[in-house]
This record gives sequence, C-alpha cells and structure tokens, in this order.
Amino acid sequence: MKITDAKVFVGGPAKNYVTLKIMTDQGVYGLGDATLNNRETLPAAYLRDYLIPNLIGMDPRNSEDIWQFFYRGAYFRRGPIAMAAYGAIDMALWDIKGKLAGMPLYQLFGGKSRDGALVYAHATGADLEDLMDSIAYYVEQGYKAVRVQCGIPGMPTASYAVPEEKGHTRNYITDYTGIRPKVEIWDTDRYRRYMPEALARIRERFGPDLKILHDVHHRLTPREAAEFAKAVEPVGLFWLEDPTPAEDQDALRLLRQHSTVPVAIGEVFNSIWDCNKLIENELIDFIRVAVTYAGGITHVKRIVDLAGLHHVRTGFHGAPSHSPLGMAAQAHLNAWAPNFGIQEYLVLGTPECDALFPSEHNMRNGMMYVSDAPGLGVDFDEGEAGRYEYKPASHPVVRLEDGTMWNY
Ligand SMILES: [Mg+2]
Repeated sequence: MKITDAKVFVGGPAKNYVTLKIMTDQGVYGLGDATLNNRETLPAAYLRDYLIPNLIGMDPRNSEDIWQFFYRGAYFRRGPIAMAAYGAIDMALWDIKGKLAGMPLYQLFGGKSRDGALVYAHATGADLEDLMDSIAYYVEQGYKAVRVQCGIPGMPTASYAVPEEKGHTRNYITDYTGIRPKVEIWDTDRYRRYMPEALARIRERFGPDLKILHDVHHRLTPREAAEFAKAVEPVGLFWLEDPTPAEDQDALRLLRQHSTVPVAIGEVFNSIWDCNKLIENELIDFIRVAVTYAGGITHVKRIVDLAGLHHVRTGFHGAPSHSPLGMAAQAHLNAWAPNFGIQEYLVLGTPECDALFPSEHNMRNGMMYVSDAPGLGVDFDEGEAGRYEYKPASHPVVRLEDGTMWNY
C-alpha cells in the first residue's frame, strides 16, 4: 500500500483551518488538522514544501515509522510549526488505519472507557453581572463545567478573553482586520485584588455542583501565582489554568508548596519534553496539550500515558482554532484515556462548518459523544472548501501601563 498524493487546504468559515488530505493507491484517504492559530500558512508551507514530497510512496500503515522519520530526520526538532505539520500527517494516517480496519479510532486505542466525555464551555462578561448572565446561559444549556473570565474594574483595557461591552457576542480574541495586533493593557495588581472575590461570588450564586474553571493566561509570576492560588482556594475551582508562563517547568513549585488548588497547564506545549518534569514531579493536575500541535495522536498518546502514571488527567485544548478534525482526534482519545479529565469545547457547529466537515460526533448536556464511524469519523467537502480562502488575522499583544511587553 502506498501514499500517492497529499493536498493542503487553508481556509474555512470564521477560521483559517489548515486541512491535510492524504490519498492512497487503494482509494482510502485520510484527513488531518494542522491549524496553528494566526500562523496558519506556516505549517501549510512546511507540509507542501518538505513533508509531502517525502511522504509520497511511503506505506501509510507505518504511522509510527513515518512519525519518527520526520521528527528524528529533521535535526532541528520540535516547535509548534513542525509539530502541527507532523500532527496533521499522523492524524491522517490514523484515519486511514481506522478506515482500513473498519473501526472508529478509539477501538484501536483499547476501546471506550466511558460513554460520554465531560466538556467545559467559555463564559465571559465585560463585568461580573454580565459574566453571571453568560454562566447562567451555559448552565441552562446543560453544561456541568464552565470557564469564567470577566472584566476587571479599572483595568485600562479589556483583559484576556473579555469583551469590551456588555452582551458583546462577536469573536473578541481573533481580529480579522489584519496581522498587526491590537494592544491590551494589563494591571496585575487590579486583577489580583478583584478576581478572588468575583470567583467567590460566582460560587455563591451557582452552588457547589458547578465545575468552575478560570484561566490566568500566563500573566502572573511564580510568587503572585502562589498568592492567588491561596486566595481562591475556598472557591473550590475545578482548575486554575496557566497561572505562570508555561515555558518554565519549575515555576509551579512555589504554588504547589502553598496551595492545593488543581492546576492545568500546557496548551502551548508541543512535545513531551515541554511537560515531562511537570508530570513526573506531580506539579500539575491536568495536562492541556492539543493533538493538533503536539505531534498528533502518536505523540499525545505518549504524553497521556506518562501523565497517567502520575495522577495527572487530560484537559485537551479545544479553542475554536481547532478544526472538527483535531477535535475528533481528541474525542477518540477522550473516549479511551483511563486518565481522562475534561475537554475544552466551543460550539463549532455552524451550518457552514458542518457542511465543510460532515460528522456524527455530537454534544448534548455538556457531554461529547464520539462517532462510531471508521477512522476519525469526520469528512471534508472539497467543493465547500473552494468557497473559502486564507484571511490574515491576529490576536492581541499585552503591555503594562508603562509600555513594558507582557505575556499574552
Ligand atoms: Mg487557556
């Protein structure tokens, strides 16, 4: 069996999805997602210029050897662009393998460990009252877990994932007016003074059963993060996400010594080498890698297995930048993983998105149910894809009030 051709598509409704389609001499094809938010053309170029010319002629069933060939063969390893490109190939090869076997991918991993996978939604508000309305909306929809982000009084601009005006519903993170980012102004002191009390009021309003998550988005120093974790301990968070910059694996030691708040980190990690110390030293409770840019199913499965040895559960990244293909790969891992925790999920199911990526994966009452179709269980309509093209976009950058660059 041989790979005969592969194509890359960039575009989609409201997002620049990077979709890889690998064709074989037996008529079976595989699909993969290489969407790297706001840098989408780069993994697409890596695939077209370097990886696909090597892929043609290979046996698609040897997904492990193909992964090792590209990873070890590159010499300059890792990084989000390369790992997203390898990840798309890996996903597509698993898709082919599942189709050849006539089985959904979770069966190839070891079968289902649960009926449905718990997901969390994103509630946001320009202020606390607005956020309360947003949380209430998701609770009414049946969600059992909600990530909560709200505007901070006196903050010079809206902060991470917070709309500028009340009831604002448009996409306020990705800006499609061009590649020059808007600037957000951040004030750590105002955030630290306000947010613990806001989280306490959310708990009071929604009661003990709602799973509440909060994302700090890498904004605090290790000492500030330890202090913040202690302050929010009475709230009983499901997790505190990205309290410190993620590239420093030692930054969470101080927090861990001073608080029992569950910690989640890792949506920007690309490989097991970004999180092995965090996992082995049991400094985190949830690992947030994404199949899309952490090297695909083959590599993420290794991270999940290492995490399982150390009581660390999964909480895969599921921002809207992941296409239904990447989310499907994660849905199959979520169905199987003995150490599954939760899945981030934003509603992608617009009619346009469903037409481009037909699938039978479904969501109800805050749970995701995996498709039983062979392979990933998502198709790709090339006719629909012709309606879209790449649109340059950006997310904000962050400065302090005096102009100092800070972490987005
Ligand atoms: Mg996050």
